[in-house]
Amino acid sequence: MKKVGKEIMYFISTRGGEKVTGAQAIVQGLAKNGGLFVPEVFPQVTKDELEQMTEMSYPERAAFVLGKYLAEELGADYLKEVCEKAYSSFTSKDPVPLVKVDGETGLYVLELFHGPTCAFKDMALTVLPYLLKKSCEVTGIKDEILILTATSGDTGKAALEGFRDVPGTKVAVFYPDEGVAKMQRLQMCVQSGNNVCVAAVEGNFDDCQRAVKTMFASEEFNAELAKKGVRLSSANSINFGRLAPQIAYYFSAYLDLITAGQIEYGDAIDFVVPTGNFGDILAGWYAKQMGLPVRKLICASNKNKVLADFFKKGVYDVKRQFHRTMSPSMDILVSSNLERLLFEVSGRNAELTAQRMKDLAEKKEYSITDKEKKILDEEFFGGFASEDDTIEAMYEIFDEFGYAMDTHTGVALAVYMQYKNWQEKNDCLDNKPIVVLSTANPYKFPQDVLYALSGNDVKDSFKGIKRLYLLTAMKPPKSLLDIRYRPLRFKTRVKNNLKDMTALVTRFAEGEIVPEPPSTK
Ligand SMILES: *Cc1c(COP(=O)(O)O)cnc(C)c1O
Repeated sequence: MKKVGKEIMYFISTRGGEKVTGAQAIVQGLAKNGGLFVPEVFPQVTKDELEQMTEMSYPERAAFVLGKYLAEELGADYLKEVCEKAYSSFTSKDPVPLVKVDGETGLYVLELFHGPTCAFKDMALTVLPYLLKKSCEVTGIKDEILILTATSGDTGKAALEGFRDVPGTKVAVFYPDEGVAKMQRLQMCVQSGNNVCVAAVEGNFDDCQRAVKTMFASEEFNAELAKKGVRLSSANSINFGRLAPQIAYYFSAYLDLITAGQIEYGDAIDFVVPTGNFGDILAGWYAKQMGLPVRKLICASNKNKVLADFFKKGVYDVKRQFHRTMSPSMDILVSSNLERLLFEVSGRNAELTAQRMKDLAEKKEYSITDKEKKILDEEFFGGFASEDDTIEAMYEIFDEFGYAMDTHTGVALAVYMQYKNWQEKNDCLDNKPIVVLSTANPYKFPQDVLYALSGNDVKDSFKGIKRLYLLTAMKPPKSLLDIRYRPLRFKTRVKNNLKDMTALVTRFAEGEIVPEPPSTK
């Protein structure tokens, strides 16, 4: 067996043809042929190492997991230092607290939203700028890096905040004009910093993501930028540097359960993940490949249930209506990271993966074989929640246990309940711990959360925050309260076409877009 961690790890493209180091994968984001970079082998975490990790703080655990992929190139000490720095910006004492909601049935919630922008995207985007900086150093890249980002609401803000005023970088964010929650939009449009650009697109998230991916893949566009000394990179979960820090919290939740005496080494547990672009849940599957005892990964979708149908039928079909829901960060039809999983279940068949992605682009669907479907059935459980199911689940948990959650986590809870029913029907009901990943602070969606918990409908987000505080006694994050007093800097709107979006990025790369200076008041 290859000794991992002692030599540089390589990454290969899911569509074949390219092999790069971790640092190169991070700088580049996407493979040249449009494929995604995946580790050539999955590094293993041994039982001894797991035991050592129980003694570690969260930043140390994160650095340890990252080190499995990147230590040889970026340096183990460097990784430790930057994880300490990144997670010190979190507002809770433990950056990722594991909350016991119902000890009897083993229901736990892993809160991933205590970072600067109140969503789980901070878990990776507080670390990524450091990973990118060092990756540029070790690969000898001196170009300015332009982080080109499509967002369904939360990645945009987390990328803007993570890269704000980082020397040698610029961030451009495209968000769907009608597709993000009010608080998410405000968070982005009041962004400070001299290297940032935010634009609304007259389309949905899939439109934004498709345009961004096309820009990445365009040789002509990249050559034009290169002449200006600018190079594109990605803060979306298509970038391995974004995915890697997300693997760590699966390990951490497991270790916390051991420390709390709830499980023993080797016991397999389930995770429920509210899913959109399939980045979060894929990180869980990667943790499993690295040796973490995971039984099932439960993939929770909202009304845009392409993934739930895929897990049921083995057909990925995007010929359907797009719905706007109260969990906007999951309003996605084309889940990019599924490509990485397809590559693995196909036996790492790059040709077949490329063909399927071509079918998806051209025929709007592809299917997998029975053999592949069987593998997925063993490892995953897919479900979806309607808006009513979501509200019901949020209400029930608040009513019974006094625990308030956001709308995305509500989707996960509703699917968790379906999973419990499925277990019961199949005579395999047990009370082994199930960890639900909580991806956003409830105060990011105050009106919807207030409505779900109390039936109260308020028109104004800040009034929603106030009422929600009275109801839950949970402290609202200062970063959200402050938005109210900050001027809107970005009002740019572009048409949903590649030409206009590309033109905007070009102007930004040339330094032409100077947003109104932030008020000093
Ligand atoms: C991004 C996001 C998700 C979906 O995560 P993916 O990695 O895209 O599957 C779920 N909930 C919230 C709050 C998010 O911001």
